[in-house]
Amino acid sequence: MLKLGKIRIEPIVEHNVPVYRPTDMFDEATPQALEPYREWLEPLALCPISGNLIMPVIAYLVRTDHHMILIDTCCGKDKNYAEPAEWHEPANELWMTRLLSVGVKPEDIDFVFCTHLHSDHCGWNTRLVDGRWEPTFPNAKYVISREEYLDTEREGSSIFTDNVLPVAQAGQVQLVDLDYRLDDQVWLEPTVGHSAGHVAVHLRSKNRHAVMCGDLIHSPLQLAEPRWNCNSDWNIPKAIETRLTFLDEHCETDHLILTSHFPLPSMGNIVTGKFGFDFNYVDYCGCL
Ligand SMILES: [Zn+2]
Repeated sequence: MLKLGKIRIEPIVEHNVPVYRPTDMFDEATPQALEPYREWLEPLALCPISGNLIMPVIAYLVRTDHHMILIDTCCGKDKNYAEPAEWHEPANELWMTRLLSVGVKPEDIDFVFCTHLHSDHCGWNTRLVDGRWEPTFPNAKYVISREEYLDTEREGSSIFTDNVLPVAQAGQVQLVDLDYRLDDQVWLEPTVGHSAGHVAVHLRSKNRHAVMCGDLIHSPLQLAEPRWNCNSDWNIPKAIETRLTFLDEHCETDHLILTSHFPLPSMGNIVTGKFGFDFNYVDYCGCL
């Protein structure tokens, strides 16, 4: 557990397998283009054996003075619709086991904040009960930006029908503006680009500030090459603009950045480095 003023933050890791070849994620990341960065990225962010990017899948449990909050819910169980297959193994209970192991039951969660509605961020929104998808967190409001919800509904994929619609039908979705504020400790920032209604989640307590940045940046590689867009970005120019603004804004501050896919411990500070930006990982001894 990490303390941010009076807020407690715990990363809940689902997967940590180096499954992505660099060019699966970034078209520009050919072996030749990666060569100058190889030594800098290995072994933490780039697997020296497989040559694949190391990108875990992580959600964050946040306990404030008033609320028990989950930010994102990883890939989930019994969801087989996205690549890579390793992220969607059937009957994967590992993430839920880790949540339970920190003393939290699904019914304890007050809010689920969804940075966006891609398959590796909203999978545990629901679970299969007697052949039907039901909200995993029965007492939670699921906070989703209106733009993200409507865009995902328009696409009509199984992500919407499996992970979002059952929650809406249970009356648990709270559609919000991109700059929604829950209270003085938790609020959203519009960070559109990777998806149509992508948001970052800000946390503040006793002058300590953290931001869960979702997928506005995927890998430390983009600290050196922030203009290399992820192949799943919704609007490439907007995604680049959002990433550059975010990096500039938080660089050389004490703001704790909580990432979705940086190597463990996945949390740290943005600093300047020999390739532009760099990341100082927190000294974290918790159970990842
Ligand atoms: Zn992601």
